[in-house]
Amino acid sequence: MSRSAHPAGPRHADVYPEGHYSAPPADLNGLDEKVWAKTVTRNADGVATVGGIEVTRLAEEFGTPAYFLDEADFRARCRAWADAFGKDADVFYAGKAFLSRAVVKWLHEEGLNLDVCSGGELTTALDAGMPADRIAFHGNNKSPQEIERAVRVGVGRIVLDSFQEIVRVAHIAQSLGKRQRVQIRVTVGVEAHTHEFIATAHEDQKFGIPLAGGQAAEAVRRALQLDGLEVIGIHSHIGSQIFDTSGFEVAAHRVVGLLKQIRDEHGVELPEIDLGGGLGIAYTPDDDPREPHDIAKALNEIVTRECEAARLRTPRISVEPGRAIVGPTAFTLYEVGTIKPLEGLRTYVSVDGGMSDNIRTALYDAEYSVALVSRRSDAEPMLSRVVGKHCESGDIVVKDAFLPADLAPGDLIAVPATGAYCRSMASNYNHALRPPVVAVADGGARVIVRRETEEDLLRLDVG
Ligand SMILES: *Cc1c(COP(=O)(O)O)cnc(C)c1O
Repeated sequence: MSRSAHPAGPRHADVYPEGHYSAPPADLNGLDEKVWAKTVTRNADGVATVGGIEVTRLAEEFGTPAYFLDEADFRARCRAWADAFGKDADVFYAGKAFLSRAVVKWLHEEGLNLDVCSGGELTTALDAGMPADRIAFHGNNKSPQEIERAVRVGVGRIVLDSFQEIVRVAHIAQSLGKRQRVQIRVTVGVEAHTHEFIATAHEDQKFGIPLAGGQAAEAVRRALQLDGLEVIGIHSHIGSQIFDTSGFEVAAHRVVGLLKQIRDEHGVELPEIDLGGGLGIAYTPDDDPREPHDIAKALNEIVTRECEAARLRTPRISVEPGRAIVGPTAFTLYEVGTIKPLEGLRTYVSVDGGMSDNIRTALYDAEYSVALVSRRSDAEPMLSRVVGKHCESGDIVVKDAFLPADLAPGDLIAVPATGAYCRSMASNYNHALRPPVVAVADGGARVIVRRETEEDLLRLDVG
């Protein structure tokens, strides 16, 4: 794998430049069920289908780039999480991963609750009929207007993130003649095993109130004294794209330690703990995420054990998966525009989208996989980098991937596992038109978020 040793250009299968990849997959036509939405398969003609519809037909009808979301898969994942945690726990879908009115309706129908972290997300949730008491409001700097609206409509909980916010929410609730249910978000000093930019529970960061130095205990002390607040529990979110529960174990241990301290000091047993989200998904076949059932079992055991040791009643647990529900359910469909082989390096494959519809590769060095989906190919594997059309050399969608060497302009390629943090982080960079999200179910496809138009761009430009 050394750089000096690659003699033969990008299609040579023995020696490649450095990268994330291991070796070409045995079958370039395979659509590994680990990374593709549940109903994705390849038909007898070699064309990939989702919900029974060929991607070629979808591209004709909806254009590219576009996100296609497998509704049956989304609903099944909601049910799997709800069933795994059962009646004695609450599952909150993290709306920031991807939120639209259709998604809110599915969540409502499947019995999930919803996390929002802005006025815009709250509006979407309420507009689509999510009952306010099933909404949790998050964020490290909620505006007074956002807080007032959340209290007024009666959100089920506000997660307090700072000393200022304790006072702000209490004051607003009191002035509205209300008592707001709140949790206090603490940082437990755990750094999840994940990329630095998305790990959130170590102490040197903006979220939460540190347990260290007694700050979190002081926050609880103050909140308990305020009439406008009903303190229902402690919240901890340790990071994202996490594959094992050891981080949650340490977090639960420390949070229960705080519950015990609160009981000893105030004679109050807080009834809830929230362990956050962050459960990982398979972006490539090398990732091995755990099933919701295993996660629920592990978290329940950890909390029960810790509470028994502290002689506390076991609190009601809540969790907040975002990525683990929506991430695997969608793929992005692109059309190949240009193909540029770089001798001895790799082949650059340019698609009609890029960092405006998937910023995660540029932002987090995220890994993705990719496949030719408009036809089958038996050509040799070609080490490729899938790039977008933006004015930025870091505009990379898939850093290292193998595509068939006969790839040609006009072919459709798809990147799986783009349901989370892709459309929700999409931008208009280079005045790109943000792609639509199309829900596919039972042989039918419908747009749930439409493609942006040039008129949309001009409408905002009022100069
Ligand atoms: C982002 C976030 C989540 C969801 O994270 P995922 O990695 O999508 O599961 C849950 N809770 C909080 C507080 C978050 O900030």
